Formats: sequence, C-alpha cells, structure tokens
Amino acid sequence: MRDRLPRVATVAQVIPETSKVTTFVLDAAIKAHPGQFLMAWLPGVNEKPFSIVRPGPLTITVANVGNFTDALHRLVPGERLWYRGPLGRGFRLSGRDILLVAGGYGAAPLHFLALAARDSGMAVRVALGARAQEDLLFPGRLAGLGCRVWTCTEDGSFGERGPVTDLLQSLADQHRPKSVYACGPQAMLQAVAGICDARGIPYQVSMERYMRCGMGLCGSCAVAGLRVCRDGPVFSRLPPGS
Ligand SMILES: Cc1cc2nc3c(=O)[nH]c(=O)nc-3n(C[C@H](O)[C@H](O)[C@H](O)COP(=O)(O)OP(=O)(O)OC[C@H]3O[C@@H](n4cnc5c(N)ncnc54)[C@H](O)[C@@H]3O)c2cc1C
Repeated sequence: MRDRLPRVATVAQVIPETSKVTTFVLDAAIKAHPGQFLMAWLPGVNEKPFSIVRPGPLTITVANVGNFTDALHRLVPGERLWYRGPLGRGFRLSGRDILLVAGGYGAAPLHFLALAARDSGMAVRVALGARAQEDLLFPGRLAGLGCRVWTCTEDGSFGERGPVTDLLQSLADQHRPKSVYACGPQAMLQAVAGICDARGIPYQVSMERYMRCGMGLCGSCAVAGLRVCRDGPVFSRLPPGS
C-alpha cells in the first residue's frame, strides 16, 4: 500500500550524463526489483513514470524530451521531488551468462539489472546503442560494474556503426547468451524479439507506454488486454499488436 501513496524526497545530487540526460540521486532508499519504475510527481506540473536506476540511494535518469522532463531538469540539490513506487513487474534474472541490450535511455533500468546480476555473480555482456557518441548512456558505469560493454552508434561516431540490434545479432551468434534483457524504443524491442526467437534465446523486454495512474486502474497504458504499468513494464514476450 505504501508504494501507492506519494512520498517526498530531497534531491541530493544532480549528475549531467549527456547533453539531454541527467541523473537525480534522492535522499531516499526503497526496496525494488530491477525493471520496476516509480511515478515522479511535481505538484502543479505532472506525474510521469521513470525506471529505477538504483534503489538506494534512490536514483532516476531522465531524458529531457518535453514539459515534465524539462521541469525535472530544473531541479537542483535541496529541492523536493515526490514519488510513488516501486511499481510494476520487473525482470526475472536467470542463466549465468546474460546479454543486456540498451537503446538510448533504455540503459536506465538495465543499470539496476546489471547491479543485481553482478551481486549474483553472473557474467554480464552489454550491447549499448545510441544515435551518436554524446548520447551513449552509462558506458563507463556499466564497465565499472564488471560488465563487458560493446557500443554502437547510428552515425558511426563511436563503436560499431549501425543499430544496436546489429550488435545483438553478432553477440548472440558469437556468445550464445542464456538470456537477453532489452529496453529501448518499440521498433528496437520488436527487432530484439525477432532475433531472439530465431535463435531460441529467451528474452525479456521493458516496454514504454503513456501512463496515468501507474497501478492498473485507468487503462491508459493498455495493450492487447494487458496493462503495461501492472502486468509489465517487463514482458517475456512482446504483447501481440504492441
Ligand atoms: C515504465 C516506464 C519507464 C520509463 N523510464 C524512463 C527513464 O528511465 N528515463 C526517461 O527519461 N524516460 C523514461 N520513461 C519515459 C518518460 O515517462 C517520458 O519521457 C515522459 O513521460 C515525458 O514527459 P514530458 O512531459 O517531458 O514529455 P511529453 O510531452 O509527454 O513527450 C515528449 C515526447 O516524448 C514522447 N514520449 C513521451 N512519453 C513517452 C512514452 N511513455 N512512450 C513513448 N514515447 C513517449 C512523446 O511522443 C513526445 O514526442 C519511461 C516510461 C515508462 C512507461
């Protein structure tokens, strides 16, 4: 019940990650599973979902794409942010040898998953993609957790040139991971599902949909009879028609 009521935290640290993406470390800690999210609330502005990057200190990483995220980007240490959560179903870790596939700020929930996988002694490979070098999120942090990180950019400014799903294909064929975990734009997730299905590799994907209540009541994130906020955001198959 506590996770459904807003709680308030103070912004302890603001860390610029890329020109559009900033990490907010809060003076709070919660119990959460990798892949779960919280609803961040600025009274009088809006309330929107963000993946948990680290549960303690509670950390979110935000791309500035519109009104609400712009308001978040103006927060400075000492200011307050309200949140509800953790919400949703997260990733289930399985297999000793796993591959994470991140497109853009999809690296946010996968950072938390990499933390949990490292603590369980798993071998973690990461395929990290972005439009350009300056948009790559967390390459250093993921390597610092002991992950082997491969990078690619669509413009070829760093790492392999091309989409992260090309990198997934070659890593899947070379290393035969026991499971794949992905987060990124919907088209990327569809390609991940196709590549894994063709090779018989189990996968889990974290999906994004517009959300209002974040706890399965309003139906605004429904897809194929599933509520992304409550039945997901992590799915072990892409819902049909998504
Ligand atoms: C479970 C979940 C986890 C998320 N985790 C993160 C995270 O860790 N970091 C982060 O930066 N963002 C995350 N998001 C997306 C974040 O909620 C949106 O970027 C935010 O709502 C944008 O609000 P805004 O008012 O700034 O922009 P808006 O004005 O609402 O949108 C600006 C642009 O972003 C697009 N957009 C906004 N929200 C979505 C969405 N949910 N799906 C697809 N396109 C969208 C719109 O099409 C529009 O072009 C997550 C979303 C979900 C559902």
